[in-house]
Amino acid sequence: MKNALLSALDPATLRGRTALVRADLNVPLDGARVADDTRIRASLPTLRLLVEAGAKVVLTSHLGRPKGEPNPAFSLAPVAPELERGLGRPVRMASGTVGEAVAAEVAALEEGEILLLENTRFLPGETANDPELAAELAGYGDLFVHDAFGTAHRAHASTEGVARVVRERGGHAVAGLLLEKELSFLGDALDAPERPFVAVLGGAKISGKIDVVEALLPRVDRLLIGGAMANTFLLALGLEVGDSLVEPDRVEMAKELMDRAADRLVLPVDVRVGAEIAPEAEVRAAERTEVGPGEKIGDIGPRSVAIYGEILREARTIVWNGPMGVFELEPYRQGTVGVAQAVAIATEAGAVSVLGGGDSAAAAEVAGVTDRVSHISTGGGASLEFLAGATLPGVAALSDAEEVA
Ligand code: ADP
Ligand code: MG
Repeated sequence: MKNALLSALDPATLRGRTALVRADLNVPLDGARVADDTRIRASLPTLRLLVEAGAKVVLTSHLGRPKGEPNPAFSLAPVAPELERGLGRPVRMASGTVGEAVAAEVAALEEGEILLLENTRFLPGETANDPELAAELAGYGDLFVHDAFGTAHRAHASTEGVARVVRERGGHAVAGLLLEKELSFLGDALDAPERPFVAVLGGAKISGKIDVVEALLPRVDRLLIGGAMANTFLLALGLEVGDSLVEPDRVEMAKELMDRAADRLVLPVDVRVGAEIAPEAEVRAAERTEVGPGEKIGDIGPRSVAIYGEILREARTIVWNGPMGVFELEPYRQGTVGVAQAVAIATEAGAVSVLGGGDSAAAAEVAGVTDRVSHISTGGGASLEFLAGATLPGVAALSDAEEVA
């Protein structure tokens, strides 16, 4: 079943219509200042399409974790001026999330105007997916546009709940431009990858990503492992890993995966080790057989970067989740930066590359390759669940394409 898409609607049908848009405006704040506007910028195309078509836009999002009660520290108010700047149009901040006053503000909207509702998580009903809250939000528009890929893996009132109510009432729930883009990049990579298809997995823990490993293994030609995740595999090979971050209770699982994957699973042949994982740590490159007791593995080594780079240069489809090392600290940054550069070069040679994961996106920034890869997902948890083959509730609740055509 294909999802109904905003991009497939005739813009002429949007004039004067009130669209309720769920975006992901969950940006980091520095006091009352937006510290990183990536998600705001990613939300603009959908908003621009709607206001230019003459729709009235009621915009919702969550921000942070205010735990179901109003808290000025998590207000969406600082986001409104950023949206204004991006769109070149006024964006009004609503007096609350729902309620009589907000309903009046919605009713007063003119064509092409945007009203930003206050943080949905100021209400306990949001994360509880309370049907009453969903119904109240659904009352604001007869078209629901879901554009919040970052929360698509959660069934909340402003995502899954509202989509259901809008449809029950005869309206449509469609995917916005960002959600469409995210689903097509990740979906195409998984369903119809041009080969060789190479996945790169790293990050802190194998346990948090085991479903992704399981789901990717049968699809990929190569699975390159880095990060602390690699340490557990090295331990499973019977190697000394010193005081590195490892998950001994996952060693059996790692062995089983290595047996099953044979040469499709690629592990680092060398590592960067130090006495500490610290900004001033003195590190050395060591063969993976030469890690001393008490040492900590903080990154993959230079030979591994070269090997991974060669495999990536041949790739036509690349999916990457999780940094190769503790990229936040200068001494352990080279593995991630080296692999990022190889991904960028492969992309420039025609490969499709998709990055998912919050820290991975930050790592791409550190490596300076954000504009040199095909797509960086705005959703960490959602992209992981998608890669693991899970159905995202916020997507499952949308109208079918035929319903809207
Ligand atoms: P993502 O958010 O992209 O899914 P994760 O959250 O799984 O990635 O992992 C990112 C974290 O893993 C980073 O904070 C990084 O410092 C840490 N990490 C990577 N390699 C190691 C390592 N060898 N030892 C300890 N931590 C590591
Ligand atoms: Mg993370």
